[in-house]
Amino acid sequence: MSDTPRLERVDWIVVHHSVTPPDWTLADIDRMHAARNFRWRLGERSGSVGYHRLVFADGTVQEGRPLELQGAHVGPHRIAGQHWPGLNACSIGVCFVGDFTEHGWTFAQALAGLDEIERLCRRFGLSAEQVQGHGEYPGAATACPGAQICMTAIRVELAHRLRSP
Ligand SMILES: [Zn+2]
Repeated sequence: MSDTPRLERVDWIVVHHSVTPPDWTLADIDRMHAARNFRWRLGERSGSVGYHRLVFADGTVQEGRPLELQGAHVGPHRIAGQHWPGLNACSIGVCFVGDFTEHGWTFAQALAGLDEIERLCRRFGLSAEQVQGHGEYPGAATACPGAQICMTAIRVELAHRLRSP
């Protein structure tokens, strides 16, 4: 198997939830995505997690797949009716582990996730408006990252943090 295609550019950070039990590990999510053929390879390294970052309930953050590579976390959504090459080619996927349809994330998870997204925004020169929930993209038929995660609140906090150097 050759290397997975590289990220062409980073225009977006897409926020997800895993819709799994909250105690699932990186290995559990790797197995789930292996079953969906989300395999990636970069030289000697390989795996199947579709997201670039996983944020766990205890506040730890782990790499799902290297940031150099395209993820497998969003469909070919269209934006403003334009022809769209595919959001996976130009976005980073950050996944909060758990199901936030009815229950909220943990405090440690929220803080760790915001810290990680802030780091990624600074590294790739993104604004808070370039951080979107999966379900916010036109044509995305999903409520991901769940009704209990408020993307507006995330963006307000990020905008506040990014104002200071
Ligand atoms: Zn999602």
